[in-house]
Amino acid sequence: MNAVPEAVDLTPGALRLRWADGIAELSAARLRAACRCGGCRARAGRGEPAAAPADLVDAVPVGSYAINLVFSDGHDRGIYPWDWLHELSAAAVQD
Ligand SMILES: [Zn+2]
Repeated sequence: MNAVPEAVDLTPGALRLRWADGIAELSAARLRAACRCGGCRARAGRGEPAAAPADLVDAVPVGSYAINLVFSDGHDRGIYPWDWLHELSAAAVQD
């Protein structure tokens, strides 16, 4: 499935996404911890603790398939494909 949200609403504390199958709110802390950029994956691979929670500052579209989230701690390497955010949304709804 090629998931693309119908609406995206960014606040410092969360990313709110409206999908065809529901609305989900993903917290900034959760998104920051879930970052899969090279640096964060390397950190996790070394067994280092996840990054400290940070607020969301900006969300920049990456083509039509993803957004690049910028956090208040200066971290701006995370690319979040819509498909993946849709999966995280489904998990969030079940929490
Ligand atoms: Zn990262």
